[in-house]
Amino acid sequence: MRTAISTLAVRGATTVRQALEILHDEERTPIAGATDLFVALNFGTLTMRRFVDIWNVDELRRIAVDGDTLVIGALATYTDLIRSPMIAARLPMLAEASRLVGGPQIQNRGTIGGNIANASPAGDSLPILSAVDAVVVLRSVTGERRVAFRDFYTGYRESVRRRDELIVAVEIPPVPGRQWFRKVGTRAAQAISKVVIAGVRDGQSLRLALGSVAPTVVRARRAEAALAEGRSIDEAVDALRADITPIDDVRSTADYRHLVSANLVRRFLTETR
Ligand SMILES: Cc1cc2nc3c(=O)[nH]c(=O)nc-3n(C[C@H](O)[C@H](O)[C@H](O)COP(=O)(O)OP(=O)(O)OC[C@H]3O[C@@H](n4cnc5c(N)ncnc54)[C@H](O)[C@@H]3O)c2cc1C
Repeated sequence: MRTAISTLAVRGATTVRQALEILHDEERTPIAGATDLFVALNFGTLTMRRFVDIWNVDELRRIAVDGDTLVIGALATYTDLIRSPMIAARLPMLAEASRLVGGPQIQNRGTIGGNIANASPAGDSLPILSAVDAVVVLRSVTGERRVAFRDFYTGYRESVRRRDELIVAVEIPPVPGRQWFRKVGTRAAQAISKVVIAGVRDGQSLRLALGSVAPTVVRARRAEAALAEGRSIDEAVDALRADITPIDDVRSTADYRHLVSANLVRRFLTETR
């Protein structure tokens, strides 16, 4: 089913306060860059017709360092992330991932907040946020709460975000160690991930997360533990098998995803040894 944009009721906001008041008073869905949302409307998978457009809420675009925490505003686009010297210095794998998202049009409109809120297991920024133990900052008219990224998703395309809350930012504590990101899709560009992986290695300490291999992004806790216990790369790769639960779908098969995940983890552990 196709949806004519003219049938939609959109209210615009230019401040966070205004957007939150609208979300509090009326049942509306936020629109940021609309790159996921228009696809869902076009496919008829989104029935909501009332929206609040937050694209012009400039205060949500800020990328800053506060104390030792990197704070990325929810409306930071992939282009913002690619161009930011702070991202280059503190979280280069996020700039690298952003360069691989869609094409320039999507990079100019797609936001990190939209990627998080959309809650697709294939979202490319999500394994990075998981591997660096990010914190999602949610705000409503009644206040603000910070949710550890590991507790944010509750199931396939589900999260703890309430309908009246906006994601306003994501906070990244310092990331000691080597960062590593790989995305495997059908093509080198403009492809949804079949497997996406992000890792941070600091000696024997390993933080590793994968997307497109389970209903939500997953931390590879068993593989992490194997390495922390001093076991071999082969044993860590074996342990990974129990960390992920890939399925067969239109983009790939469970077997292929297991194989590629294992190969990527092996490569990560070898390259960062
Ligand atoms: C051609 C194409 C290629 C793509 N390629 C990739 C890719 O390579 N990798 C990838 O990960 N994604 C890709 N995407 C998906 C999409 O671009 C990203 O997920 C993007 O980050 C979504 O951000 P947005 O601002 O456009 O979100 P929107 O479409 O505006 O919103 C998505 C969802 O998030 C909610 N939302 C948005 N912002 C907030 C907020 N601040 N607080 C609460 N809820 C919010 C909306 O209500 C909606 O439910 C692609 C999409 C297209 C159309």
